[in-house]
Amino acid sequence: MDLNNKLAALDQIYQIYDHFASGLDLACRKHCAHCCTTGVTLTTVEGYKMAKKLESGENTRWIEKIEQALKQPHFQLKITTNQLANMCAEGIELPAEENTGWTACPFLTHALCPLYIVRPFGCRCLVSRNDCGKEGCAEIDDFVLSVNTLFLQTIEHMDAGGCTGNLLDILGVMALKENRQRYAEGKLNCRHPGLIRNHPLKVLMVPPEHRTRMEPILQSLRNIRI
Ligand code: SF4
Ligand code: SF4
Repeated sequence: MDLNNKLAALDQIYQIYDHFASGLDLACRKHCAHCCTTGVTLTTVEGYKMAKKLESGENTRWIEKIEQALKQPHFQLKITTNQLANMCAEGIELPAEENTGWTACPFLTHALCPLYIVRPFGCRCLVSRNDCGKEGCAEIDDFVLSVNTLFLQTIEHMDAGGCTGNLLDILGVMALKENRQRYAEGKLNCRHPGLIRNHPLKVLMVPPEHRTRMEPILQSLRNIRI
């Protein structure tokens, strides 16, 4: 799939998820941003979309912000969601994730996201039934977790040939015009620090008890036309 088609598909995937999330009973509200941290991960197609938006905006210091944040320890994935699904299906032991600690997302401004419209799925799916600030952590319904996993798997599959990584690592790569060009030509490799190669979706990580309820969402994803 070429880049324009990937971006068009991504917009539709986001729309389907945002419609689903709008029907949930959540504590999330404007200026609530405890979940906006450097722990967010995303794919290259999402990073490309964010970098293009940043490049066209007024904040010319965004690359500097990313470079500063990259100097701090930050969470890095060892495997992608589709790899995780495949390893679970094959009974392979999963690698332990390192807890590097999280700080606030460098884009957060007065508890608001200046990139809200193009925020990646990893930000969109951070939802909670309770107020994380008061309770100390998010409370996410099991069905919502399954739906989130389905979308993570779908976006990774759609971004075939691309990479997954931490927000800082992906934007650090996408900040460079030549890397965006390489990505647009399908020539970006995932050997940059913190990036791992995307994998195709082979096994859906949807528990049997959620399959019937999830069918309309699956159908909406199948109906995506570009
Ligand atoms: S996930 Fe938690 S911190 Fe984030 S907006 Fe929702 S309630 Fe607030
Ligand atoms: S990109 Fe925006 S929504 Fe995502 S963590 Fe940063 S400030 Fe929050």
